[in-house]
Amino acid sequence: MQRTGECLEEELNIITRDSWGAKQPRKRVSMITPVDYFIIHHSAGFLDNRACDNLLDCIEEVKDIQKEHMDNGYVDIGYHYLIGGDGSVFEGRGWQYEGAHAFSYYNNISIGVCLIGNFNGKKPTNKATTALSKLNTCLQRIGKLNLTHSVYGHRDVRQTECPGDKYYPTLKETFGASWHREYPPPEYWSECRVNEGKCQNDALDCEGEYKVRTTKIGILPFGLHALPFGTLLCPEHEEDNRIKCCIKRT
Ligand SMILES: [Zn+2]
Repeated sequence: MQRTGECLEEELNIITRDSWGAKQPRKRVSMITPVDYFIIHHSAGFLDNRACDNLLDCIEEVKDIQKEHMDNGYVDIGYHYLIGGDGSVFEGRGWQYEGAHAFSYYNNISIGVCLIGNFNGKKPTNKATTALSKLNTCLQRIGKLNLTHSVYGHRDVRQTECPGDKYYPTLKETFGASWHREYPPPEYWSECRVNEGKCQNDALDCEGEYKVRTTKIGILPFGLHALPFGTLLCPEHEEDNRIKCCIKRT
């Protein structure tokens, strides 16, 4: 089993893409590091809330998550890293490339890590949370995550249960000063896909064709809520320009 070797100082062996049998990405976009945000997920919702507690099962989970993401239009597995219940850490996109794991505003300015399992009804294992902390420490040490970064749960940046009702409240204690160092945006944004030139549900009208965001929006001092109302962005799938979407502040 090959390891990336970057986090040996933290005694963390990150299992490389080749070792877990990743498919080739359809596309890759380099990410500028260090980034300012570290966003935590659980994998619930994928794969009937399956979890894993040994290396072989976790490899299967990671492969299935990649398949599910790519079948849904992502160019690769969405997360930068994934962690199993046994504490195994898997290289997803890695810090080198932009992810597709949070609201689009954050995808190119954050590292997204997914703990495998559903943590609405129970907490992740100590092995998994310890590995997550070590990964966070390592990414700072190797200069990929700013020392002044903010840690968020996925639900801080969009309307979702992720990373789980039982797990989310524990993150503050785990991450201390990094947790919400920059206060998360006060409002959620919802998105919907375009249907015959109109956004579905009660989102904004969006006449005609428009391109999915391709240029980066500058990092604004107070985050998402500084974006003008009605700004068109695409959520997780933004990298796939077959999918059009529009959003509205809720
Ligand atoms: Zn999530």
